[in-house]
Amino acid sequence: MRFDVMTLFPDLICNIVNTSILGRAINNGIIKVNAHNIRDYSLDKHRKVDDTPYGGGMGMLMTVQPIIDCFNSFKDELTGSKRVIYLSPKGAKFTHQKALELSKYDNLIFLCGHYEGIDTRVEDMIVDEQISIGDFVLTGGELPAAMIIDAVSRLLPGVLSDSVCFEDESIAAGLLEYPQYTKPAVFNGLAVPDVLLGGNHKDITTWRRQKSLEITQKFRPDLLQNCNTLTKEDILYLETLKGLEG
Ligand code: SAM
Repeated sequence: MRFDVMTLFPDLICNIVNTSILGRAINNGIIKVNAHNIRDYSLDKHRKVDDTPYGGGMGMLMTVQPIIDCFNSFKDELTGSKRVIYLSPKGAKFTHQKALELSKYDNLIFLCGHYEGIDTRVEDMIVDEQISIGDFVLTGGELPAAMIIDAVSRLLPGVLSDSVCFEDESIAAGLLEYPQYTKPAVFNGLAVPDVLLGGNHKDITTWRRQKSLEITQKFRPDLLQNCNTLTKEDILYLETLKGLEG
């Protein structure tokens, strides 16, 4: 899968994607990430990429020309399906479902805004979709772009060592993940629950499911409303928990 990121700060993107699991995915040829410096396409003699907003107001906006020329510099190289995403607090909130949907494309192109954002004509000309990573405002779209590249890449075959790594995880499974422990069995008097040491896989599965239900009910009860994997036993267990609370 190919990612192209249009940004004023390509180093920010490169530093993140060349590290750890994403870096390995790049070295193994599973993903390719190109960071394009929008400033390189400015026709202004001072390489200016921003200007004041028409109608007045605070701050500066990124101008149309360098962004469109940047996009045109690589768009004909793209083969297969593509989606152009503008990272913006105005977009729909990013979710696991969206990551799954985006992982089906051959190419994802990200536009990172800065200052007060971009001239709206860029949206009209090249943007397919706006995505927000949450209800807060950042100084630029680079961290959101890197986050989405990370979330999408780990869904691609070969990026993680085993697909179970994400299928059983928080959110992906519709619930939050159960508590996990590794060696030693006791640390500073804190012991790993006996059930995990006993080797009875049925008991371990039941314990994990119940812990997932408990944690989800406590921290993200909204997830339970939309969870379509709840069994009769799960619903009974949740009723028992509510009974204990009451
Ligand atoms: N004036 C803009 C507004 O009110 O919608 C905010 C501009 S923000 C300071 C600069 C850039 O950071 C945006 O163009 C966008 O690319 C990025 N950004 C900020 N917050 C974001 C968020 N929650 N999700 C995605 N991108 C964000």
